Amino acid sequence: MAEEDYRCEPCGIYCRDDADAKRHEHVWHSSRDIWLCPTIGDIQSGPLAAYFFPIDQPAEDAACPLCSVLFTDLAKLYPKLDDWAARVKHLEVDHEVGKCQAARRFLQSGDMLLHLANTHSVSLSDYTGEVIDSCKRAEPPFAETAGRPFLEAADGADPTPTQTNT
Ligand SMILES: [Zn+2]
Ligand SMILES: [Zn+2]
Ligand SMILES: [Zn+2]
Repeated sequence: MAEEDYRCEPCGIYCRDDADAKRHEHVWHSSRDIWLCPTIGDIQSGPLAAYFFPIDQPAEDAACPLCSVLFTDLAKLYPKLDDWAARVKHLEVDHEVGKCQAARRFLQSGDMLLHLANTHSVSLSDYTGEVIDSCKRAEPPFAETAGRPFLEAADGADPTPTQTNT
């Protein structure tokens, strides 16, 4: 078969065979799921905001989705703060949200969960799945963010990019 059959349209490189072309497509041109350690801003503007900062009056038994502490108990802990300020304080103090390096990222949901449990005192509950999902982002295809260094590579070079993100 002619090698033109395995030419990648967007970047114009030739792949050795169909499997190589598929691998190239997957590595360079597919978006993938990553998980980011949340900031206070992420929580305030993301799906968890419905728990922490509901539009309606929260139920009596409303609790932190990260650790299940009752918001009514939080209010007693911080009597001088209004409800929302008390919850932000709880996120900062008890869950150390915002203390991680910016853009702390994980390639597996399980790694995200471990990090949340170990570093942010997140305990397993019915909400844990939602907490993990709220951290999920679609990372754009590698070719759009990393340039195309392999275009200058010698003919027949492996089109797999060097992994620079850890
Ligand atoms: Zn390509
Ligand atoms: Zn909590
Ligand atoms: Zn973190």
